Amino acid sequence: MFSSKTIEQFKNISTPFYFYDMELLKDTLELIQSEASKYGYHIHYAVKANANPKIMRLIQSYGFGADCVSGNEIKRSLETGYSADKIVYAGVGKSDKEILTALETGIFCFNCESIPEIELINELAEQLNKKARIAIRINPNVNANTHHYITTGIEENKFGINRWEFDSVIETLDNSNHIELIGLHFHIGSQITDLSVFKGLCLRINEIQEWFNERKIFTDHINVGGGFGVDYNHPDKNPIPNFASFFSIFDEFLNLKPNQELHFELGRSVVAQCGSLISRVLYVKNGINTKFAILDAGMTELLRPALYQAYHKIENISSNEKSDTYDVVGPICESSDCFGKAVSLPATKRNDLLAIRSTGAYGEAMASKYNLRDIAESVFSNEIL
Ligand code: PLP
Repeated sequence: MFSSKTIEQFKNISTPFYFYDMELLKDTLELIQSEASKYGYHIHYAVKANANPKIMRLIQSYGFGADCVSGNEIKRSLETGYSADKIVYAGVGKSDKEILTALETGIFCFNCESIPEIELINELAEQLNKKARIAIRINPNVNANTHHYITTGIEENKFGINRWEFDSVIETLDNSNHIELIGLHFHIGSQITDLSVFKGLCLRINEIQEWFNERKIFTDHINVGGGFGVDYNHPDKNPIPNFASFFSIFDEFLNLKPNQELHFELGRSVVAQCGSLISRVLYVKNGINTKFAILDAGMTELLRPALYQAYHKIENISSNEKSDTYDVVGPICESSDCFGKAVSLPATKRNDLLAIRSTGAYGEAMASKYNLRDIAESVFSNEIL
């Protein structure tokens, strides 16, 4: 919900733009910090969700580490104040150059996704005369009950190392003098709102950890990734996810060994609700059975609806008139460039401002220049209000 003062300010800014409510982000970070510290949990911010430097700096100021999936994310994290010893690095396709960047920087841990990757890291670490700290990313075969494009922890996915490969992993580690195994890593998917899924993950991790312990392999930490979902339907009613319940699941069901650390990689749950994409209506056009509200923002600014049929709440913040129904679409030459079908909005006309809510995660971060579009600006509440 935007105050009338904020809406007045929006009228002077050229659209489309990403708006960030920095107060909400601070409140979210304070809650995560206080809930996680009850258990001594370590939080890495998943940079892929939003790599905007101002957002990243604020998150870093709360003491978070970074979870990166590319060499450039590692560089951005260092530039925005994250210390190397709090950076974890995942990804199924780490290039030689990226691995070298990570080794030279001395990151906390590589989350390794295959045996050939472990072999390459060992080889490159040997060249630099270093020892790489790694966790093995394990595919626990737990279904996250979320959209299939953001499910990552079942055996058919490309992510992680499957159970039948564990013996070979141990053999590889035995032959890798420049690798130190320090963790077991898991990440089963994103936008998970059913907390029982995380309970299932904990129980599976307990079994897997036992398997390793029976073979005298112990690790300093477990990393359970991210994936905690947000309420896209009610961004005003539930602006901050229930982190108390989320962390308590792990406290209750995960069997940590004495002094073993628990790490998280939170992305969406940190930043989704603080962002909105603000766009202007270019035209209202009559279709056969519908009216199209054609915006100046499209899939180039927010890809999620086109990519995963994702729902985002859409509000007309310029009109209070009687409702009508619109297909809200962007200007891009693709039929999938549609933010919502049959959306009920107050009567909408050219130049009205529309807010597409909950776009702080995987919005700006997925922006593209397709159709040679300009990259939209970012606007921060603490700079305009
Ligand atoms: N960790 C890994 C390995 C991921 O792939 C992702 C997202 O894809 C995350 C953490 C962050 O997930 P989320 O934004 O759902 O918290």
